Amino acid sequence: MTHPLFDIGGRTALVTGSSRGIGLALARGLAEAGCTVVLNGRDPDRLAEAAARLPGEIHTAAFDVTDGPSVAAGIADVEERVGPLDILVNNAGMQLRAPLLEFTDTDWHRILDTNLTSAFLVGREAARGMTARGHGKIVNICSLQSEVARPGIAPYAATKGALKMLTKGMCADWGPHGVQVNGLGPGYIETELTQPLVDDPEFSAWVRRRTPAGRWGRTEDLVGGVLFLASPAADFVSGQVLYVDGGMTSVL
Ligand code: NDP
Repeated sequence: MTHPLFDIGGRTALVTGSSRGIGLALARGLAEAGCTVVLNGRDPDRLAEAAARLPGEIHTAAFDVTDGPSVAAGIADVEERVGPLDILVNNAGMQLRAPLLEFTDTDWHRILDTNLTSAFLVGREAARGMTARGHGKIVNICSLQSEVARPGIAPYAATKGALKMLTKGMCADWGPHGVQVNGLGPGYIETELTQPLVDDPEFSAWVRRRTPAGRWGRTEDLVGGVLFLASPAADFVSGQVLYVDGGMTSVL
């Protein structure tokens, strides 16, 4: 039997960037916990395919999380069609790897828009209703790179470090209105985004060596943390980042 503190059945949850990878696994976890889930991404066909593979009541909402007017229209449409949002997971993101001296202005703006501005835009629109109703849970998908950088990913680390601080700022602004905002920081997780790293034998072995758990993470490893942060068990937890990284951020 589920402890009532962890019961999130009947809540409505939107997961951005849930056509594949981590977002899709988190959407599945929320659906299995009894939530009505809204999948988001840019490609409606891909979302429909993903929705067909999930249990329970699943809806889709195709919009680009980097575009303010699309986000405002997308959230309004979801709340009208599906119902008021109880849970938002800001997961959509991207990775661009290049030495900083070769990083272009265009790529800098693209990664900032996708990983950081998106959380502000979607968070702001979702929080309008949540703060008015006096309850809501927002989980921003940060990264172990919210804490540490490595060569070739300075812009990515900058977006994820800033997302950690945006999480704390949202907590300060919206906490008084009953909305808890937290971050979840995955370690190295096997997805499309990390496929080039998984395929690099040297890097892949380095990840296993540096992770106390001795392996790459799987998308399912992240589900428990999000379910906790979305549940009444976390009603007094806000502004925190929970690192789910097999221990990597804790060791040298
Ligand atoms: P994937 O590349 O596998 O998936 C990214 C998702 O984001 C897709 O569903 C994509 O959908 C969506 N997306 C990208 N841009 C937009 C946009 N502008 N508007 C709407 N949706 C968008 O990545 P992961 O699953 O690996 O990563 C998910 C999150 O987890 C990211 O924020 C990432 O930074 C973070 N993370 C990942 C780690 C890892 O090791 N994999 C480690 C730490 C953090 P579509 O292309 O269909 O629009």
